[in-house]
Amino acid sequence: MIINKLYEKLPLVEEWIKSLLKNSSGQRIPLRSFTFQRLPNYYSSATVDSAKVVLVDKIPVPPLSDFGLQELRDFETGDYAGITYLDTYFIKRQFEEDESLHFHELVHVVQWQMLGLQKFLLLYGVGIIQDGYRESLLEKMAYNYQHRFQDSLETFDVENAVKKELDRINSVWNVS
Ligand SMILES: [Zn+2]
Repeated sequence: MIINKLYEKLPLVEEWIKSLLKNSSGQRIPLRSFTFQRLPNYYSSATVDSAKVVLVDKIPVPPLSDFGLQELRDFETGDYAGITYLDTYFIKRQFEEDESLHFHELVHVVQWQMLGLQKFLLLYGVGIIQDGYRESLLEKMAYNYQHRFQDSLETFDVENAVKKELDRINSVWNVS
């Protein structure tokens, strides 16, 4: 089962993430310093305060195939505008002012917070393998809310919405 294989490789991915965050600690910019106007209306101040941003030329993705996860090779070699690890997201420099992208990555910050490292990685990995990047569970959720943010000025409580979705997934996850 793929889930067992992912579970077995978790420590490698975890170690890689922790070392990435440690090595980039000098470049981490608090989200607050970007002074976006809309974002704070969708997220709690605790979440906005906790989020850090690193501007990069190339998005860092773990060497998953080196870890033996060939199933994630397409994901590993993909080209992304941003990626989130725990409370820190990496975005390409040219998207620095793209509030909608920041919004998307913040959905992931909330997912990481609510799921914790192991469960986030398992759900993310299984989603990518089963449904592909764009349709994977956690990405689809982030894209849906991002589109809602883009299409309307009407605010909504992202954290509450994410929590409801994750609770529903959790109940399925725990019985299967
Ligand atoms: Zn995403």
